[in-house]
Amino acid sequence: MPEGADTIAQAYAGHQFGHFTILGDGRAIVIGEHLSKNNERYDIQFKGSGKTPFSRNGDGRAALGPMLREYIISEAMHGLNISTTRSLSVVKTGETVMRETPLQGAILTRVASSHIRVGTFQFLTATREEKNLKTLFEYTIDRHYPNIKDSKTPAIDLLKIVMEKQIRLVTDWMRVGFIHGVMNTDNMAISGETIDYGPCAFMDIYNPETVFSSIDHHGRYAFLNQPSITKWNLARFAETLLPLIDKNKDKAIESATATINKFDELFNNNWLEMMRKKLGFFDKKKDDEVLIGFLLSLMHKHKADYTNTFCSLMNTEIKKDKMFESKEFVDWKENWKKRLKENNKSNEECLKLMHLNNPLVIPRNHKVEEALKAANNNDLDPMLKLLRVLEKPYENQEDIMNYQSPGPASDEKYQTFCGT
Ligand code: AMP
Ligand code: MG
Repeated sequence: MPEGADTIAQAYAGHQFGHFTILGDGRAIVIGEHLSKNNERYDIQFKGSGKTPFSRNGDGRAALGPMLREYIISEAMHGLNISTTRSLSVVKTGETVMRETPLQGAILTRVASSHIRVGTFQFLTATREEKNLKTLFEYTIDRHYPNIKDSKTPAIDLLKIVMEKQIRLVTDWMRVGFIHGVMNTDNMAISGETIDYGPCAFMDIYNPETVFSSIDHHGRYAFLNQPSITKWNLARFAETLLPLIDKNKDKAIESATATINKFDELFNNNWLEMMRKKLGFFDKKKDDEVLIGFLLSLMHKHKADYTNTFCSLMNTEIKKDKMFESKEFVDWKENWKKRLKENNKSNEECLKLMHLNNPLVIPRNHKVEEALKAANNNDLDPMLKLLRVLEKPYENQEDIMNYQSPGPASDEKYQTFCGT
């Protein structure tokens, strides 16, 4: 550690699968902040570096596999242009970490625009530290949203901004088929970055009910539940802000509720705009929603690959799903082509819009597993190759075909673990 540096483990609380708990960084410490050349401030954090006052019964350690997994997926998200914390490095500690089996220990260095979570606010509400709540609130605005500093209604403004950020984030997740897997309120960052890569994974076959996490028995964090869970989490955030919204509690609740009630409409508009872009549509047309919905229902019915369906529509050199031979899909495609003509744009322009929004490659589960298995045996080659392809997921690359095929059919039952 640099001389004079003071590490901090942060306190927070959170709703985990709906149940409120006091938590805190049990295996992570912020080792400092970094100011970039553009004066942007970043937290530099170690994950897996040992016990903290919040470790409870845990050992504060992390295993190599889950840390490399976070590295791969978070860097892939960055390549996909999705707001995320980043991974600077993974270093083996040389220690053995005991989980179901003995595993190699490792520390991930995470870079985040901050580690302020919905759960950080919840901690101060739960411990009734109203003065500190105000300090955290002001700190958050200073650090992330200084433009609302002089607002007459800063608390409602903060709620609105965080809501917009989260809507944009979840819409982006749904654009690429990402399932976070553990959207507890302590894993939702006020900055709007994707944070805490645990049991997350990308969906191959389109199924809105997809869940990968071994502990998500009721599908609370399933692919299609992500927007409604985001709204639920934002409502928990709004609750913490009540004393800052208005001294009169009834008025504060009314104002917060009115803000949260706008979520559905805002999300739907955002989502529709995103799906339009995936299909190459400029402007809005009345029947777009039906056309989009019908495609999704066909993909679901025919078990089509989510990413590759859009690649095939862009005529990428890829094996087409069986769906493309079905009469109902051929009919849908005719309607889609008609709609493209209504754009009054050239084919090239439509295709360009699609290429900006549909990745050619995502971190497929079987490729991630293959890379992790090799890395565990000191062979970093598959992982480095995978990372290189994922740096430019919207561009055609020499060996891209090796990374585009969905895993074997057994991947439908692919399971992920928190790795804690
Ligand atoms: P996560 O699922 O990574 O969001 O972790 C949930 C909570 O468990 C956080 O408060 C972590 O700090 C804590 N935690 C996870 N793994 C460990 C561990 N090995 N030792 C101590 N605390 C942990
Ligand atoms: Mg967490």
